[in-house]
Formats: sequence, structure tokens, C-alpha cells
Amino acid sequence: MYKASLTKLHKEMRRCQRCLEAGYPITPGAIFSGGPSARVMVVGQAPGVREKETGLPFSGPAGKRLFSWLTEAGFEEEEFRAVQYITAITKCYPGKGRSRGDRVPTAEERKLCAPFLVRELDILRPQLTIPVGRVAINHFLGRGRLADLIGNVFERDGRLVLPLPHPSGANL
Ligand code: SF4
Repeated sequence: MYKASLTKLHKEMRRCQRCLEAGYPITPGAIFSGGPSARVMVVGQAPGVREKETGLPFSGPAGKRLFSWLTEAGFEEEEFRAVQYITAITKCYPGKGRSRGDRVPTAEERKLCAPFLVRELDILRPQLTIPVGRVAINHFLGRGRLADLIGNVFERDGRLVLPLPHPSGANL
């Protein structure tokens, strides 16, 4: 049941072009990984250019740093990727920003993509959610001083939330 719902959702996510149709310069093709048995869900901001090329979330230098933190917490990368779930607030590559780095998805794009995250959470019901970086942390915990939030565990809607800084150092 879970598996069928998740497969259907993934098909919809991969086909989705809502942001492109709304005029945003994204590269369509949702990037995420993981299956129905996941108990931990990592939620980033949006895929980067490296992820666009590999189709694998957190596969660039920021991912290396993230997985070094997760390894310290007892999650080895290969096993984590095989078992757990990785997604993002907006699931398509947003394109380059005006200055260095990738564009931060707008509030409208986040709104357009939000129903997918709601469905991912409904289907998987992860025991632990790890929002990574300001945009994802704000989504789960509201606005607050990141220094007061990062590294602490919170309970929201019956699930545990452990916010982490963005491993790229951007949008900390
Ligand atoms: S970011 Fe989300 S809402 Fe926007 S096109 Fe991609 S999957 Fe669709």
C-alpha cells in the first residue's frame, strides 16, 4: 500500500513542471531518493547543479560534508542512502542565482512544491526528520534564530525534528 502510494507520488513528482509553467527557470525532474521502509527523512532546500547531473540528492561537496556529520551520528552513507529517504523543499534544480551559487527557490515555488512534501511525510511517517539549512528548518520549525535551533531535537506533529545547518555554508 505504502509502496504503491509512494511509487505513484514519485511518478507525479518526476513529471511535474508546475514551477516552469509559472515562469521559474527550473530544470524539471524531481530529485530525491529512498523507499517506503525509510524511518529517517532528510529534507534539503533544493537540488544543486551537481545533483541535477547525477540525479542523486546531496551528491556534491555539500553532500560529502553532510554525510560526514551523519556518519559521526552513526549513519554510514552507503547504508543511509540505501535505506533512508532524502528529499527537498523544492525538488527540481532552481538554476543559478544572480550572485555565486544556486538560486534560492521563491516562496511561490515552495508553495507549489509543498503538497509533494506533505504527501511524502504522510506516506512515510518518518520517526526522525532532518531539515538541512534555513529554508528547510523554517518550513518545519518556523522562523527562529538558527543558532537556537540547530543541533537540538524538537517534537512537531508527533515526529522528531533535528535541524542541521546547510553543509555548503550557504543559507545557514
Ligand atoms: S520544484 Fe516541485 S512543484 Fe516545482 S516543478 Fe519541481 S516538482 Fe514541481
